Amino acid sequence: MTISPNTELKQRLLTPGPTAVPDAVLQEMAQPIIHHRTKQFQAIYAELSQRLQRVFRTAGPVLSIAGSGTTAYEASQISLIKPGSKAITIASGKFGERWQDVYDQYATTLGVEQIRVNVPWGEAVDPAQIQTLLSENPDVSIVTVVHSETSTATVCDVKALATVVSQTDALLLVDGITSVGAMEVEMDAWGIDALVTGSQKALMLPPGLGYVGLGERAVQRLSEVKPQGYYNLDLRRWLASWKKNDVPFTPPVSLIRGQRVALEMIENVGLDATIARTRQLADAGRAAFKAMGLTLISKSPSDSVTGAYYPEGVDDSKFRGAVRDNFGVHIAGGQDGRGAKWKGKIFRISHMGYVDAEDTMVCLGAIEAELIAAGVAIEPGTAQSAVAPMLNE
Ligand SMILES: *Cc1c(COP(=O)(O)O)cnc(C)c1O
Repeated sequence: MTISPNTELKQRLLTPGPTAVPDAVLQEMAQPIIHHRTKQFQAIYAELSQRLQRVFRTAGPVLSIAGSGTTAYEASQISLIKPGSKAITIASGKFGERWQDVYDQYATTLGVEQIRVNVPWGEAVDPAQIQTLLSENPDVSIVTVVHSETSTATVCDVKALATVVSQTDALLLVDGITSVGAMEVEMDAWGIDALVTGSQKALMLPPGLGYVGLGERAVQRLSEVKPQGYYNLDLRRWLASWKKNDVPFTPPVSLIRGQRVALEMIENVGLDATIARTRQLADAGRAAFKAMGLTLISKSPSDSVTGAYYPEGVDDSKFRGAVRDNFGVHIAGGQDGRGAKWKGKIFRISHMGYVDAEDTMVCLGAIEAELIAAGVAIEPGTAQSAVAPMLNE
């Protein structure tokens, strides 16, 4: 079945960021702009902050910072490290490598010495390795890790890492950009010191806001360390304003309004139910990929994104172009990094945020049809029959 290219075709965004935005959120963002130094804005911002605390599962501050997830993570890296100390930087994919690059940029201004832990792409870090490194290096002041490494569709055991790191003076800074709101992350119960996410992954908003949750030890660290070499990215400014339901600089008011509504939608469904749905869609995606004879890219699969290697002979850009033009389904390819070169070798689909069983069925059906069109031997209907029983449970 091929539907002819048609610009009116319903578009389904199944890329692991940005993700689809519900109509109610788009409408909220179309409201007239209000000034941010007003009681009206402060009330909206206060409500957003409380909803963010619930989704982060923390009683501490969650700061909303204009920028993307990278802005929020970089701000956390540089604001929380002790100048002249060591950082353990765990990388098992493109994003973990990015956080190493960020500290490289501040190596001189902040005197950062990195202990790079490079885990093979598609695998998860072993917390015991971090425990050993921490005992050998008492001058480590921060450990950075990606909970759900979107580039490799891999999840690691942040709960175990938090247990290890909390026994030392080091802080654990977690990139939860594709885990918060999609998978179990218990900021306070697990003892995560700082947790970051972005608006355009599981939280059903366009790109443009980054969030930083701060635990007690992180707040303490901010008060002990003086900022040097940065200004807008200084979390102390954002925290001081947050305490007054305020922001230091002009905020993206429309996004803040929209995020409040999107989080209300998540709460109406329930965070646990949202996490369970994400898992169900991921289970369905993994089952369908395996039934089609594909190999998953991860040995420790995340529930927010699923990836598979292309079978021999499938051209990445032709394949994804056909899935998009013939079915209106947008999926992601692979990325090149230091640990692996996955551009053209893999593809990925998202299970986060505003995506349901029907979107997932259509996506998997489109993938199956275009793999068959590319010459892969798959019995038509394989994906649908693998998925149907799981999604109808
Ligand atoms: C998307 C993503 C990022 C980068 O976020 P931006 O908003 O693009 O800056 C970082 N880490 C992970 C795990 C991501 O999925």
